Amino acid sequence: MSKNDFYPSLPLRDIVVFPGMIVPLFVGRDKSIKSLNEVMKTNKKIILITQKNAEIDNPTDKDLYSFGCEGKVLQLLKLPDGTVKVLVEGIERVKILECKDNKDYLSSSIELVKDKVDIPQEDVLALSTAIVRKLEKLTNLSKKVSLELMSNLKRQKNPSLIADHIAGQLNISISEKQELLEMNDLKRRLEKLIDHVNNEMNVISVEKRIRGRVKNQMEKTQREYYLNEQMKAIQRELGEIEDGKDETSQLHKSILKAKMTKEATKKCLSELKKLKSMSAMSAEATVVRNYLDWMIELPWNNKEKQAENVNIDDAKKILDEDHYGLEKVKERILEYLAVQKRVGKIRGAILCLVGPPGVGKTSLGKSIARSTGRKFVRMSLGGIRDEAEIRGHRRTYIGSLPGKIIQQMKKAGTKNPLFLLDEIDKVGTDYRGDPSSALLEALDPEQNVAFNDHYLEVDYDLSDVMFVTTANTLNILPPLLDRLEVIRIPGYTEEEKINIANNYLIPKQIKDNGLKKDELNLDNNVIKDIIQSYTKESGVRNLEREISKLARKTVKSILTNKIQKLQINSKNLPDYLGVKKFKHDEMELNNKIGVATGLAWTEFGGEILKIESAIMPGKGKMQITGKLGDVMQESVKAAKSYVRSKSIEFGIIPPIFEKKDFHIHVPEGATPKDGPSAGIAMVTSIVSSITGVPVDRSIAMTGEVTLRGNVLPIGGLKEKLLAAHRARIPKVLIPEENKKDLAEIPKKILDEIEIIPVNTVDQVLKLALTKELKPIEWIEVENLTKSKDGTKSTTVGTH
Ligand code: ADP
Repeated sequence: MSKNDFYPSLPLRDIVVFPGMIVPLFVGRDKSIKSLNEVMKTNKKIILITQKNAEIDNPTDKDLYSFGCEGKVLQLLKLPDGTVKVLVEGIERVKILECKDNKDYLSSSIELVKDKVDIPQEDVLALSTAIVRKLEKLTNLSKKVSLELMSNLKRQKNPSLIADHIAGQLNISISEKQELLEMNDLKRRLEKLIDHVNNEMNVISVEKRIRGRVKNQMEKTQREYYLNEQMKAIQRELGEIEDGKDETSQLHKSILKAKMTKEATKKCLSELKKLKSMSAMSAEATVVRNYLDWMIELPWNNKEKQAENVNIDDAKKILDEDHYGLEKVKERILEYLAVQKRVGKIRGAILCLVGPPGVGKTSLGKSIARSTGRKFVRMSLGGIRDEAEIRGHRRTYIGSLPGKIIQQMKKAGTKNPLFLLDEIDKVGTDYRGDPSSALLEALDPEQNVAFNDHYLEVDYDLSDVMFVTTANTLNILPPLLDRLEVIRIPGYTEEEKINIANNYLIPKQIKDNGLKKDELNLDNNVIKDIIQSYTKESGVRNLEREISKLARKTVKSILTNKIQKLQINSKNLPDYLGVKKFKHDEMELNNKIGVATGLAWTEFGGEILKIESAIMPGKGKMQITGKLGDVMQESVKAAKSYVRSKSIEFGIIPPIFEKKDFHIHVPEGATPKDGPSAGIAMVTSIVSSITGVPVDRSIAMTGEVTLRGNVLPIGGLKEKLLAAHRARIPKVLIPEENKKDLAEIPKKILDEIEIIPVNTVDQVLKLALTKELKPIEWIEVENLTKSKDGTKSTTVGTH
C-alpha cells in the first residue's frame, strides 16, 4: 500500500465503523453505489469514513473526518428499489491522507494507524478485563448489550479489539465514537471507554430509581382506588348504600336541591367533578367535601314568609310585651318596620342601638326578630381586627372556614334573618386588614346583594337580611357610623328599674327556675335595696343576676327545707346575696371645703365624680391624681389658670399661687376618667380650697369651662342626671345650652331634681359656694390687701 494508491470510499452518515465490527449498511446514494460496484470488481477493500454532518448528501473531503476504517465487503445485495444492502467488516483504522472525488465516486489514499502502547502488556490486559467486567454489570442493569457480544468479548484476548468492539456498541454520540476511533494510544482509549461505561451506568441507575418511584406511586393510588371500590362493593352487598346513593351522587342531588344561584351551582358541580377524580381519603378530597357541605347547607333561597308581611300592630304588641318603657326607641323601630313593609325591601340606614350594658339592646334585637317573624342570629364584633374573621379564609388549607357572617347565615338557615352585630364600636383596624371595609360591604344595601366571602369564592346575597347593630359608645369608625341610624338608650331611673324588675325580670326568673307565681315575692323595698346595695349600673343586667340568685336559693330551700316560700326582706337580704357590695353614691354628709360634686359619662353610664383639692405650703406646683385622661388633665390646668386670672375678684391674694402647692384628686382611681365636662366642678373645688369657703353638698354640676369663665355644653346629659338622681342629689347645675336636651329627660327626674342652667363660672360659684366671695383690692407695689368695704381682709395673712 503506497501513499499514491487510492481506494474507493464510502461516506457514512450516522455510524462509525471500528476494526473487528461487522455491520450491515444500506446504501442509496449514487456515488456510494458506484463506489461499491468498483470495490466488487477488485479486492473488495473499501474505506469507510464518517461524515461530520449527517445531513450533507454529497460530501467532499472537508465534510469527512480524517480518520476512518478500512473495511471488507462480505456480502452485497441489490434491492428492488435500487438501493444496496452490504455487509462490511472493519479491518484496520486508517488515516485519510487525501480524499478526492473522481466524478463517479469518492476515493482516498490512506495510511494504516497502529496502536501505540506505552505501558506493560499486563497493565493493558488488566484494563481490558476491568472494562469487560464493567460492561457485564451494565448488561445486568439494562440488557443493552447482547449476551452474544458479552461471550465474544470474554473470549477475545486482544485488548485493542476488545476496546473497539465495546466502542462500537456504546450508546454515545457519533463525535464521541469518532474520538475513540482516532485515539491510537490504547491505554487512553481503554480509560476513556471506562469513563463512558461508568456514565452509562449512572444514567441507567437514575432512570431506574425514577421509574421505581413512579411505579410505587401508581401502585399506591391503584391500591387505594381498588380498596375503595372493594369497600363500596361490600357496603352495597350489606345494603348500606343503594346503587346511585354513593357519596358523589348524593352530593350531586343535594347541590341541585339547594337552589343555589347559577354561579354557585356551576362552581359546586365543577368541584364535585374534581372530587370524583380524587382519592377519597386524600386531604384535598376533605377540603372539597367540606366546601360542598358549606355550600349545600347555606340558605340560598329559603325565606321566612312571615317577615315579608309584618303587621305593625302585632309588632308593637310584641315589643311592649318584651320591654318596659323605651317609648321613643320602640316608636322609631316601628317606623322603621312600617317603611320596610311599604318599600318591600330593606333599604336605608341601619339601626344602631347605643347605650351602656344591660339596658336591653340585645334583647330589643331579639324582640324585633320576634315581631317581624325573622330568625335571630347574633355576632359580636368586639375585638375583631382581622378582616378574615368577617370575610373568611381562602380555601388553601384544611382548616379554612367561611367568615363569621356566612357562618351565622348557615346557623340562621333562612335568607332573611335578623342579624344583630354587637359592639360595633369595638371594631379595630390593624395590619391584618380592615374589618370595617368588609362590614361596610355587608351592611350597604347597594353592595350586599353580592357579598364576597373568600372561602365561598362565589357571591352571596345578603340583601334580605335585616341588620341591627349595638354599641356602648358613639366611638364608631366614621365610615360605619355614616351608615347607621343611632338610637340612644341611656339607662333607667330607679323607678323604671323597679318596674322592669316587677313586670319582666321577676316573672322571667320565676319561669326559668320552675317556680310558681307566688313563691318568689319581692316587694319594692327589697328591689330598691338590691338596686342600691348590690348593683351599680345604668342597665338592669346585674339586677337580673341578683334576682336570679334569689330565685335559685328559693327553689333550693323549697326542695330541701320543705317550706312554702322564702321570706325575703331588706333585713335578711345579705343572708341570701352576701354582704352589700356597694355603698350607693351619696351626697356628702356636710358641706366641705375643697370638695365639689361633678358628673361624668362613662361607657357604663353616668357617674358621680367627687373632685377634691387641697393647698399646702410650697412653691406653686400642681399635682393631679386619680387616673385622669389627657383631656381632664388639661381641664384642671385651665380651671387653675381661670381661678388665678380672677383671683382678686374671688377674694384671693395672687401671691398664693407662688407660695402654695395645689393637689387635685379625683377618687376612685380604678375608673378611667376623661372628658372636659368636669371643668366647672374643678374651678369650684379649687376656689373653695383657696378661699376656705365650703361647697354646698346638695349641688352637683357639669359643664366645660373656658379661660374667660364661660360654661360650655356637654354630652350625655341624661346619663349624668340619672347618676345624680341615683345619688339623691337635689340640685344640678347644667350648661345653659344643654337646656334643650331636657325634653328627653324622664319627668320623674325633672320633678325630683332642681335643674339650674348656668352660663358663667361666676353664676356657678355663687350657687355652689356656701358664702359669697368678696373681691379684694390688691395693690402690687405696697402689698396691701383691702376688701372693697374698707375693712382689712382677714382671709389670707401673707404679711
Ligand atoms: P345589652 O345588650 O344592652 O347589654 P341585654 O339586652 O342583654 O343588654 O339586657 C339584659 C337583660 O335586661 C335582658 O334580660 C333584658 O331582657 C333585660 N332588660 C333590659 N331592658 C329592659 C326593659 N326595658 N324591659 C324589660 N327587660 C329589660
